[in-house]
Parts: sequence; C-alpha cells; structure tokens
Amino acid sequence: MIVKLKRSVNKEDVVALKEHLTSKGFEIHESLGHTYSIFGVVGDTAGFDLRSLYAFPCVDNVIRVQEPFKKVNRKLKSEDTVIDVNGVKIGGDKVVVMGGPCSIESREQLDIIAKAVKESGATILRGGAFKPRTSPYSYQGMGVEGLQLLKEIGNKYGMPVISELMSNEFIPEFCEYVDIIQIGARNMQNFALLKELGKIDKPILLKRGFSNTIEEWLMSAEYIMAGGNDKVILCERGIRTFEPYTRNTLDISTVPIVKKLSHLPVIIDPSHAAGKWDLVESLSLASIAAGADGLIIEVHHEPENAMSDGAQSLKPKKFKELMRKSTIIAEAMNKTV
Ligand code: PEP
Ligand code: MN
Repeated sequence: MIVKLKRSVNKEDVVALKEHLTSKGFEIHESLGHTYSIFGVVGDTAGFDLRSLYAFPCVDNVIRVQEPFKKVNRKLKSEDTVIDVNGVKIGGDKVVVMGGPCSIESREQLDIIAKAVKESGATILRGGAFKPRTSPYSYQGMGVEGLQLLKEIGNKYGMPVISELMSNEFIPEFCEYVDIIQIGARNMQNFALLKELGKIDKPILLKRGFSNTIEEWLMSAEYIMAGGNDKVILCERGIRTFEPYTRNTLDISTVPIVKKLSHLPVIIDPSHAAGKWDLVESLSLASIAAGADGLIIEVHHEPENAMSDGAQSLKPKKFKELMRKSTIIAEAMNKTV
C-alpha cells in the first residue's frame, strides 16, 4: 500500500506511524519530498484494515496496491478454473446453459419445462424451491419437496440441477438433492452462510448482490474459497441503477473485468437483469459475445400462470431459438454450447 502524509506533520506522529507499521510486520520505503512525503509499505495487506491508518493525524491518504482477494485472484492462478458438475463442464471453452422455472410448482410443471430445455440443448436444470420474495404474502416455494422433485426430474432427463439456498438450516438437504447450490443476490453477503459453504464439497453459484461492487462480490467468493471449497461460479444478474425500464441493469462489463481479476467462471442471468422476456435473447447473446462462460435462464410453458417471475420467463419455443443463436455466437468465440 501507499501512505501519503499530510503537508505539515508532527514528527512524533510520523514516528508513531512507522512504529505501528513495523510492528504489523510491514517494510517501509520512504520517499521524502519538499511538499509531501510518501511511504511505500510492503507486506501482506489482505487481513489489514487500511482505513485504520487514518487514525494517525499525519496520514493524508492510503492507497491499496494489492487486491484484497487471494484465492480468487488470477495473479495466483493464471489458468481458468473449470468446474465439472457430473460431467458438465463450467468454464474454459464451454458455454453452459442452465434453464428452468423460477419456481418449482408441481411434478407436471417441472417435467414439461425440463423436457423442453433438455431438447433445446441446455445441460443444467434450474428450479427454485426456497424463494426469496420481497413480500411475505407472495409464493414462498415448495421447500424440500421441491428439491426432491428437482432431483427426480433432473435424473429423468440426465441433467444436473441447481437451486437456491437461503439459510444454513437446509445445507444437508441441498447436499443430498442438488448438484449446484445457488446463493441469491440477497444473500451474497450472508457471511455465516458463506462460511458454511466453504466447508462442503459442492459447486456454489454465487450471484452478485444488486447493490454490490465487483470487489465485494469477489470477497464473498473468497469467503467460500478461504473455507476450503474452490468450486465457485460467479453469476452477474443485474444491478440497481436509476433506469426503471428494466428490472435491473445488466452490468455486462463484469465479464471482461472478472475475467481479468479472477480465474473463476462467470455466467450471466439475463432473466433477472431484464425482468422482461423480450429482452432476454439480446442480453444472452451479448453475454456470450462478451466472453461469459454460460447463462442461467428462466423458462416456463405457461408464463402467464407462473407462481413467480412469469414476466421474464421464456416460453420453450423462444428458448429453443435462443439456444440456436447462442450456438452461433459461441462458435465465433471459439467455444461450444
Ligand atoms: C432466482 O434465481 O430466481 C432469484 C431469485 O435470483 P436473484 O437472487 O438473482 O434475484
Ligand atoms: Mn426468479
């Protein structure tokens, strides 16, 4: 880190600052100028609260040089991480497509949608059983029974399955019934949950919180990896901006940025970004062109009657068309769907 001192400083303050930094194990390289002095501070700052240095009256500015994330960092692992989910590869030269309903509603509903997404070429089945709804009066999901149906239908069509976990309480059930655990936008910084996920051996799809920075998102991934679980898939699902036309604003720039900063796979959820089904295709194709490792898309055969997110769900025919076009864009990116 770089510490810039104020123009006029009390010498005793500077001595105290130097002693403090040395006691923390840092090496100090001093650059003393006429108007300003700068300390180049060398050492591992990952666990150090840089802002604490502002408590010294002589400190004007502290600048971080090293990223605060380690295991997630591409500087520590240059090759792309590829996660194998029962033979389906996520990352590398693949574009994985996960499709299915926002909420699992019944065996029949899930069967119809799973059959359609499988026939269109998707390789992972999504379905929510525990739903994070804004209103307590909205449909909350089928719970564990939904997870059991998801596993049953996933097995029937030979597709690994993904579902959202909201609390530590159901980790054993998720380990039993799902192949990828989804952590939703609202729980991205539920650190108690992230710590528990670090202890298990299941791929985790970590969505970006709608008001979180890329660095905060990567630090949440770091929580999981620091605990010992290195199977993390990042998922951008749109962030809150001033634009009301879409439900969220898809931050497509996360793809090249995350690719530069991290070795982890990054996929896009255009459904929750757009909030409208007729925008999903364009956002999906743009995501693949930007270098995303995959998509997670909501599909429903009767979106007008869906228990949640019907407005953003694609009908099977539209999903099939999206898969056809995705294959073409993936090819241009030297990838296969
Ligand atoms: C979902 O996938 O249905 C969902 C609730 O996603 P998010 O956490 O991105 O809102
Ligand atoms: Mn949804």
